Amino acid sequence: MAELVYSLIASAGVDRRQIVGVGVGAPGPMSHEQGLIYRAPNLPGWVNIPLRNLFSGQIGLPVVVENDANAAAFGEFKAGAGRRAHSMVLLTLGTGIGGGLVLNGKLWRGRFDNAGEIGHLIVQVDGRACPCGQRGCLERYASANAVAELLVEAVRAGKPSILADRIRANEALDARDVLDALQQGDALARDTWEHSTRHLAIGIASVQHVLNAQRYILGGGLAKAGAPLLDAVKRHLEQTYWKIAPDCPEVVLAELGSDAGAIGAAMLAREGAPASAAVGSEARGRSS
Ligand SMILES: [Zn+2]
Repeated sequence: MAELVYSLIASAGVDRRQIVGVGVGAPGPMSHEQGLIYRAPNLPGWVNIPLRNLFSGQIGLPVVVENDANAAAFGEFKAGAGRRAHSMVLLTLGTGIGGGLVLNGKLWRGRFDNAGEIGHLIVQVDGRACPCGQRGCLERYASANAVAELLVEAVRAGKPSILADRIRANEALDARDVLDALQQGDALARDTWEHSTRHLAIGIASVQHVLNAQRYILGGGLAKAGAPLLDAVKRHLEQTYWKIAPDCPEVVLAELGSDAGAIGAAMLAREGAPASAAVGSEARGRSS
C-alpha cells in the first residue's frame, strides 16, 4: 500500500508537501477514531490491526481510515449520484449488502462506528440464516449472491426453469444469469427477481421511516443490471410505501462504480486535514 502511494505521487508529479492526507477505505468492523481494524473476514490474519498508525508511519503523511462502504457513500455524495442531496443512503448490492449514510452533508458513523449496516436490517422474522448470526437479514434476500441462491434453491425444490440443467450440473450461477433468464421469459427467474427487489424496496421503506432521507443510491454488482433493477425497486417501493405523506425518496443508480470508495476516502482525508492545510489545498485546486 505504501509503495502504491509512493508510485502514485511520482506518476502524478505532485509535490509531497501539497498532500494533506491519505484516505483508506477498509473492510471489517473498525474503530474510525483509532484507525483500528478489529477484524477483516476477507483478509486472513487481520485482527486488531492499527492500520492508520502503521500506514502513516510508512508514508509519513496523515492517514484517515474509514469503513469501505462509508467511504463509497461519501464518494457518491461528493462526486457521484449523491451530489447536492440533502441526505442520502448508499446500498452496495454484492456478496452481501453494504451501506453508508450521509445526513445533513456529514457521514453518519453512529456511536459504535457501525451505522448503515442495512444488509442486516431484518426483513423477515425467523427468515433465512445470515453469517452474522441473525435470521431474515435483507442481504439474504436482495444481495447479488442471494438472487442467484434463491433461484438455485427453488430449482432444487422442484420448480422448472431454463437454468435447471446448469444447476443440476452444479454450475455456479450469478445474478447476471438470473437476469438473462428473466429476459428470455423464464417465469422462475422473474419471480425470483420480483421477490428480491420487493425485499429491497421493503428494506428501503423501513429505513426511510427512520431517516426521511432524500435519495437512495443502488451500487455494487447487482446495480450493473441497470434499468431492470431500478424499475422493479421503484415500482415495489411505490406500492409498499405509505401514502399519507409525500416523503417517498428518490432511488437512483450509483455513478462511480468501484472508484467510489477511493474517491470518498480521499475526500474524507481532505476534510479531516487541519483547516490551514485544507484551505491551502483548495487554493491549489483539487490536488488531494
Ligand atoms: Zn445478517
